[in-house]
Amino acid sequence: MNKFWERTFYFMTFWFQGSSFLNPRAYAIMHRMHHAYSDTEKDPHSPHFIKDVWGLMVQTKNIYFNYLKFKLEPEPQFRDRYPTWPALDRIGDMWVTRLGFMAFYIAFYIVFAPYWWLFLLLPLHFLMGPLHGAIVNWCGHKYGYSNFENGDHSRNMLPLDFLMMGELFQNNHHQKPNDVNFAKRWFELDPSYPVIKMMHWLGIIKLRKHFAPAPHEKVAPKNTSVISAAGETIMNAIEEQIIIHAGSFTKRKI
Ligand SMILES: [Zn+2]
Repeated sequence: MNKFWERTFYFMTFWFQGSSFLNPRAYAIMHRMHHAYSDTEKDPHSPHFIKDVWGLMVQTKNIYFNYLKFKLEPEPQFRDRYPTWPALDRIGDMWVTRLGFMAFYIAFYIVFAPYWWLFLLLPLHFLMGPLHGAIVNWCGHKYGYSNFENGDHSRNMLPLDFLMMGELFQNNHHQKPNDVNFAKRWFELDPSYPVIKMMHWLGIIKLRKHFAPAPHEKVAPKNTSVISAAGETIMNAIEEQIIIHAGSFTKRKI
């Protein structure tokens, strides 16, 4: 991805996350930690070491702020290889900016909402980022089915994951963390995949055709998929096994 598109997507991240803008650097560090230490004590947000969803959100927030404010230095393997835009990071994290977005959402409801009770949905808009994180990190590591034995508790929750745009295929994602297609079986659908693929065709991003091994594969290479051998062969045949070029930046950080 060239600098123009990197900045474009960075700005879109700020614009669409709005009141709950997440600093991409802090997010990238935490996401890499989550993959390296999935469902262990060093995982920044494993539901298996926290009592409830609220506790998960609070712990995630605390670790996030440590990296946002540079109070904690990440381990060397989690540093660098992410874009930064310090000016936009500062603006996105200012209270006046967050409150401005909240005022905009309220104004939008005043103009377009036909029923008063729809205003009860406003808090969901104010906290889009943390809520999305809580749903994916809690449910995606607790409920659902597994295709692969990853050595963690990751699960696939919704076979048709249109609600979280594919993010709830956590078991598939932990098995092949650099694959932009989170769907792995014939009945699974990742709605983000065609969008990413189209960006590749349009030359906006560049996808690579091979994978780096997942953290658990580096430790003990194995083939313990519970997908049937025939099913896996078909799956491998139709799947392109692509990853985002190192250094590129989209919703799917590597
Ligand atoms: Zn996960």
